[in-house]
Amino acid sequence: MNGLERKSPSDDELDLIAKVPSESDRRSGKRKHRVLRDDSESEEPVPPPRNKPLSKRSKTGAEPESQVGDLLSFPRNPLILTGGKSDRSTTSAGFQRHESFWFFDGSLFIQLGGVRFKLHRSRLNGTSIFLQKVFGIRDGFYEKTSLNISLKSGDSANVSVKVEEVDGFDLYILDGVGVNLEDFVVLMNLMENSFEYCDSDVSVFMLASAIRAATTLQCPTIRSWAIITIERIWNLHTFLEPLPNPSEVLNLARTHGMHETVITRALYELLRAENFDAEVLKLRLPTRRERLDSAKEQLYYEWISIAADPQPSTVRCPFGQRCTSHSPSEVQKTHMDLVHMSSLLERHLSDPIGGLEYLISLEDRWSAAGYCPRCVHLRTRLWADKKDEIIKEMKESNNWLLN
Ligand SMILES: [Zn+2]
Repeated sequence: MNGLERKSPSDDELDLIAKVPSESDRRSGKRKHRVLRDDSESEEPVPPPRNKPLSKRSKTGAEPESQVGDLLSFPRNPLILTGGKSDRSTTSAGFQRHESFWFFDGSLFIQLGGVRFKLHRSRLNGTSIFLQKVFGIRDGFYEKTSLNISLKSGDSANVSVKVEEVDGFDLYILDGVGVNLEDFVVLMNLMENSFEYCDSDVSVFMLASAIRAATTLQCPTIRSWAIITIERIWNLHTFLEPLPNPSEVLNLARTHGMHETVITRALYELLRAENFDAEVLKLRLPTRRERLDSAKEQLYYEWISIAADPQPSTVRCPFGQRCTSHSPSEVQKTHMDLVHMSSLLERHLSDPIGGLEYLISLEDRWSAAGYCPRCVHLRTRLWADKKDEIIKEMKESNNWLLN
C-alpha cells in the first residue's frame, strides 16, 4: 500500500538510458539524454545522508507522538528516508528523500520540511487546485531556472512557492505554504492509495491531517471525503462506545465548517472522557475551562439522578400483581441488581446518554425480571426521551461551551 514496490527502479531500469525529455526539457525545447535513475544523472555513488541520522529524524520531525503514522497503517515509519544526494542548488541543500513517495518516473520534485518527494505532475495537477495554479504560473516563466511564485493558498493566506530547476526537473519548495510534513504525507497516501481507505477504519488524526492539507492545497475531493467520514463517525445515533480524541475533532470542526452534530458529539465525548483533563489541554479553542467543568458536573449529576431512580415513571400497569412494577421491593431489588451491582452506575459517571442507552439495551433483562411488555416499553421509551432531551441541551450549549 505504501508504494514501496514502485519506489526503486530495477537494475535494468537503472542502466536504461532513455531519450525522454523532462518537463523542463519540453518547456525549453531542449532534449537531454537522461539516465532514469532515481536521484540524478551523476554517476557518483549516493553519499550517506548528510542530515540527522534516520532515527533522530523520525523522532524530531514527527508531530507529537507520531500518531498519524502509527494509526494509519502507513509504512511502519512514513518518514524513514534514504540518503539524499548533495544538491548543487543553493536553497535545496540538505534534504532527505522520502522513502515511499520517490517515483523513479516522477516528473518533478516537491520539498517540504527538509524532505524531498519525486512525484507525478499530472497526478498533483488533477488533485490540487493550488498546485495546478503554481504549475500554470511556472509554465509562464519556463525560461527561468529560479522563481518565486506568490499566490493565495486554500486557507486564504498569501504564500509563496520557490521553484528551482534541479537535475533537469522543477523543484517546488512548499515550506511556508501552510502544510506541515506529516499532513502532506497523509495527503500523498490518500492521493496514491485512496482505494485502501474506503472501508477501513481511519483515525481522527489521519482525517485531521487530510483535512488540513487538503484545505491548504485545495484538494476538494480528498477534503470532502475526510469531512464526510468524520461526520459519519461523529454522529448522535449511538453513544455506547466512546470515541477517542475529541479535542482533535473540536479543533477542526469549527474552522472547517463541519455539521453541528459533529461538534455536539465531540463536546460530549470530551466531557465524558476518562482523560478529560488531558483532552482539554489539547484544545486550541477559546474555551473556558470553568464552563467545561460545570457542564461535566451537570452530566455527572444527571446520571446519578437517573441511576438512582428505580421506577422512572408511575406506570399504570394493566397486568396487575403479575408485573414487577406493582411490587416496590421487587422494583428496588431488580434495580440494585441491574444498575448498582453491575457497576453500570460507575461506568457512566458524567455519561448519562451512554448510561441511558445501556439501560434501554437491557430490555430482555427487564422482561426477565418480571416487568410486563407494556412496562418494559414505557420504561425504555422514557429513557429514550430523556436521552433526546440531554442531546438537545448539549446542542444548545455548543456555543456557550466553545466560546
Ligand atoms: Zn407492567
